[in-house]
Parts: sequence; C-alpha cells; structure tokens
Amino acid sequence: MVAQIPQVFDFQTSIETLRAHHWRVFADAYSGCAFNCQYCLYKGPDDYGKHVRVAPGSAEADLSLGILDVGTSTDPYQPIEATERRTRGILEAALAQRIPVFLLTRGTMVTRDIDVLTDLAREGLVEMCFSVITLNEALARRIEVRAPSPRERIAAAAELVDKGIPVSFHVAPVIPGMNSAAQMNELGYELGSLSGRHVFNAVLGAQKAWWGPFYDVMEAAAGDLDSLEAFRAAYPRELQFERDSAVNCGLDAVLGTLLPFRQGVTRAGAVFVAENFPHLSTGALEGGIYRWKLPTVYDMAAWVAGQEQPVDWTGFSAWYQGFNPGQRLTDLVSELWDSGELFVGTTVTAAGDFATYVGGDTVTETAHTTLVARRAARR
Ligand code: SF4
Repeated sequence: MVAQIPQVFDFQTSIETLRAHHWRVFADAYSGCAFNCQYCLYKGPDDYGKHVRVAPGSAEADLSLGILDVGTSTDPYQPIEATERRTRGILEAALAQRIPVFLLTRGTMVTRDIDVLTDLAREGLVEMCFSVITLNEALARRIEVRAPSPRERIAAAAELVDKGIPVSFHVAPVIPGMNSAAQMNELGYELGSLSGRHVFNAVLGAQKAWWGPFYDVMEAAAGDLDSLEAFRAAYPRELQFERDSAVNCGLDAVLGTLLPFRQGVTRAGAVFVAENFPHLSTGALEGGIYRWKLPTVYDMAAWVAGQEQPVDWTGFSAWYQGFNPGQRLTDLVSELWDSGELFVGTTVTAAGDFATYVGGDTVTETAHTTLVARRAARR
C-alpha cells in the first residue's frame, strides 16, 4: 500500500513567500507544536504546545514536479510523531511518488527514519534541515522550551551526515544581542563544517501577539545572553508593528550579527543563505532537491538584471516557464509584475524610515527606481 500524506497546500501564494522560498507546496503532519519555542511565528498568546493534533486530510496528492516543504508551522519530529508516525508516512509517500522533500526540525527523532531518508538521499530527493540558533544550552532551554538541546540536534545531524543524507542548518531566528559576534562566527563555522552545504538564516520577525511575553523571557535570560543591552538597543519593548514578522530592528544590529556569522559559514566552505537579506548570500542552492526549485523574487531580479534592458513580460515569462511553475503561480507572478510589487526589495525599518536593501553591506534606494523603469516597459 502506498503511504498517504497529510493535506498539501500551495506554498507560493503571496509576495512574502515568493521572496524567500523555493518550495512549491507544503504539508504539515500536525497542528500545534509541543516544543513551544518562545519566538514561534505560529504561536498565539496561549501555550502553543498544549494543543497538538494530527493535521486533517490524508489523500495522495498530485504534486507533479516541485519541492514539498515539511515543517512549515509545526515540527515534524515532536513527541507525538513517536506514535502517529505521520512524518514517516510523508517520507514513504515521497519515496514512492518521487517527490523531492525538504524537512525542517528541531527534533532528534529523525534518526528513527534514517532507513527511508537514506533511500530518498540515494535518489537525490531529500534535504534534512536542522534548526539551531545558539550553542548556549542554558539559553536554548529558556527559549526553545521543550525542544531537544542544540547539542542533541547537532549529534542527530551528524548521524545523518554519516549515512550520506544531505543535511543543512537553519539559524532562525537570528536575534541581535543573543550571541556575540565571536559566538555567531563559531556557530557558523561548526554548522557549516558539518553540513558542507547550506546554512540558512532569518533575522527575528516579531509578532504583536507574543512580543510582551517574549521580551520578558529575554530579560529573564539576561545572564545567558551575550548582551541584554544590545538586544534592548535593537528591539525596544514598545516596538512599532507596521507588519507582523517584519525585520523590525536597525540594520546596524542585523549586520553586526549576520556578517561574523557569514564569515564563519564561508570559512567552513558552506553556502550562507540569508532569507531576509538575500544579497548577503554567498551562493545558490544547487544539486539534490534544488533541481526542482522555484526561483525566488531575488533570482528573478538577478535574471532580469543580467538581460539587455528593458525586459518585457514576454521575455521574462519565457524564462520563468522553464521552472514549470503551473498556471496559478504564473498568474500570481504576472499580477505582481503588473502591480510593480514583484521586485520591490526586502525592506527593513532603519531609524524610523523604510529603506531598501539591495546588496553589499549598504542601504540605497537604487532598486526601486530601476525597477519602476522596468515595470513601465511592459506598457
Ligand atoms: S519547533 Fe518550530 S513550530 Fe515548533 S514551536 Fe518551535 S518554532 Fe514553532
């Protein structure tokens, strides 16, 4: 019998997801998450970990080509998986249907599934990504309340690497003030050395619903943080929420944390992939499951920038169709091209103003003007 998978959803439904992600669809085995990380994007004011359920739906899905992302809003290897085995079912379905799959976890139960992961790896159909935000165990215990410790996750990752299973790391959220520059450098080097592939990262995107309690946790953890003062300087308690999950600390704090981290990752020979600040990335995602990746907005912008100007929709669309995006996604990209939103850069709040981050270690407004000109070319 072919294993079944939970209900599958389109991943790419907005400009937000198009900006940072290569995945086409996602499936979550559960709703809620027992790990109860204090920064969880899906956490409401309640204890997220108290309400873990098996996610509805278990039909086989027609995925055609495209990467399935597992672990978007709940951890696939939290305790309930020991008995429900829904994540294992996803892996078995992926193997049977030749679906490329990317899994993100803070769990260690993944080592139970090394057999099926090895089979998937043999076909170039899997990347297993471990989230580790600090090597400070005491701090992790306060913030990622019931998740396995960072060292346990790294040990699980090493077991997979030993079996030839592609492993990457996701350092998210990066929180200025949590780790020193030297600690970020060390973290980047250790994770990059073990993976040899990719170290993803995303800077903290605060949410109104949990900002107060999260701030309390950070203040209570003062003795374990590198610098509570640096955290407070980056994020005032009274934060302006123009948009939930936006990177709403100053650019100096971002770069002071990301640049030493990037140096550690590159020193280890791995690729640094900055989701909020893609121009800090040091390479592309290639090989393995990335044969089926969709281009992000930044990939699209890079392609456009490399063409003779102006580029019109017909030329752009011809290139884009090479990724087999399907009609629904093509319609979304076309709509964003027309409205001008597609190429508006990642924005950060710096000193109260929105600035556009376009590359290097500086902030300019060049991208907006260039892309306004490109947009006009379609008319
Ligand atoms: S492991 Fe992921 S989904 Fe679970 S609480 Fe932590 S951040 Fe949220």
